[in-house]
Amino acid sequence: MPVIESLFISGQWRPAATGGTREVLDPADARPFAVVAEADTADADAAVAAARRAFDHGPWPGTPVAERAALLHRVGDLLQRDRERIALLESRDTGKTVAEGRIDVDDVTAAFRYFAGLVTGEAGGRTVDTGSADVRSTVVHEPVGVCAMITPWNYPLLQASWKVAPALAAGNTFVLKPSEITPLSTIELLRLLDEAGLPAGAGNLVTGAGDPVGARLAEHPGVDLVSFTGGLLSGTRVAAAAAPTVKKVALELGGKNPNVVFADACSTAESFDTAVDQALNAAFAHSGQVCSAGSRLLIEDAVRDRFVTELAARAARIRLGRGTEPGVECGPLVSQRQLDRTEEFVASALAEGATLRCGGSRPAPDPVRPAGGYFYSPTVLDHCHRGMRVIREELFAPLLTVETFRTEDEAVELANDTEYGLAGAVFTADPERARRVAGRLRHGTVWINDYHPYLPQAEWGGFGKSGIGRELGPAGLDEYREPKHIYENLRPAAVRWFTG
Ligand code: NAD
Repeated sequence: MPVIESLFISGQWRPAATGGTREVLDPADARPFAVVAEADTADADAAVAAARRAFDHGPWPGTPVAERAALLHRVGDLLQRDRERIALLESRDTGKTVAEGRIDVDDVTAAFRYFAGLVTGEAGGRTVDTGSADVRSTVVHEPVGVCAMITPWNYPLLQASWKVAPALAAGNTFVLKPSEITPLSTIELLRLLDEAGLPAGAGNLVTGAGDPVGARLAEHPGVDLVSFTGGLLSGTRVAAAAAPTVKKVALELGGKNPNVVFADACSTAESFDTAVDQALNAAFAHSGQVCSAGSRLLIEDAVRDRFVTELAARAARIRLGRGTEPGVECGPLVSQRQLDRTEEFVASALAEGATLRCGGSRPAPDPVRPAGGYFYSPTVLDHCHRGMRVIREELFAPLLTVETFRTEDEAVELANDTEYGLAGAVFTADPERARRVAGRLRHGTVWINDYHPYLPQAEWGGFGKSGIGRELGPAGLDEYREPKHIYENLRPAAVRWFTG
């Protein structure tokens, strides 16, 4: 298999300095289907030096906003031109279905277009009313500098776009390190940025392991900001590595997200069907490998038996297979490690008293499901409680736990009883209750009678250990800018504080 020269530094594609390589596996059969360069810290240093030069001496930070926005729109056009090819690549790399890959490419396009529009629509700065005609005071926003970006394997292209698009819109330069498990679509993104005309050094890519490559970027004195999306443990390591250089740190971490279903959301056949369908989608989309997955079902006791029985029956019918096969609804897990962790969590939940309602094992191979693939059957675990590991720790698997409540207060208390706070949902027919509960949930996104939609215009991020800062929306652009206050005295005069 030819090695992809996957490091992009100063506008040049190159192999790793050591000549190191890494095989990229197809999670549907665990076979390698690509080989990329495996960077080490010397490559990370070279990429930071390139981004530093491009920021300090290159044209990008001073490029007029309209031209920066035009480049982002060109990237959007190129993504749409290559939509099918990139969707297929994302499917093979992550295991997700091609249909999900297409949605990702469209969402990535929307992120580029959104941030292009956001910077274009801005006035040149904020004038502060000083109350004096002798002073002019303005607050402007400038790029932070060199941004290091570290991304996870579940939405490789999407998570990269939430960082790259605002960073470039604001005039920064960057070094991006995708997950070592799923680097391929990010390589394509850098190709498109190059084709769209991004100046050499403004965007750099290093493919390699979290430690040492990501760790080096986080600690690097030449980096002004590190934006990380990934797990809690890696996130705390990134924050610790970044601390001595006092760089800006943005963390998008995990979630243990509650989906709260009240009995009144199930009072008609149609609303019952909708609530069950949404609970399935919340938990099992992309085989549950979604940071905002509704992996904790909190169901009102009065409807629990009917709801869980129907949910488990439908979960058992989800068609698992290779994401590129027609008719497949869910792909495999991304790696052997995720598969092992899933088996471990299910075993621990059963040992702690949970009841298995469906799944709980690896499915038998069939024509669309090769024997070596990392497949795990959608699993519903009933009779779960807060003491269990499966309720407290993020897993990233097609695993739905069921807890019950009797009152609204109890539902809110359960939903908020997590160290995370990324997302949650409430299903109810009572609009007053919906608003009350949404107001009390300590989570960064709350859906009412829906699950999963997000908008590029609305901030995304979490309370608690789900992270620091926000992506998307105006705050997602502000992450990549430093406000600067310019105070101008229009009638300079001596102060005479010192009289000598
Ligand atoms: P991970 O933490 O293992 O890896 C994420 C990235 O960090 C990878 O690129 C990895 O190489 C790198 N990394 C690992 N150790 C590092 C270190 N010491 N220093 C610097 N970089 C390091 O996470 P993952 O398993 O790839 O992704 C799953 C996690 O991502 C889940 O916890 C999920 O909730 C989270 N996630 C969050 C969001 C969000 O928007 N909040 C979105 C997607 C995924």
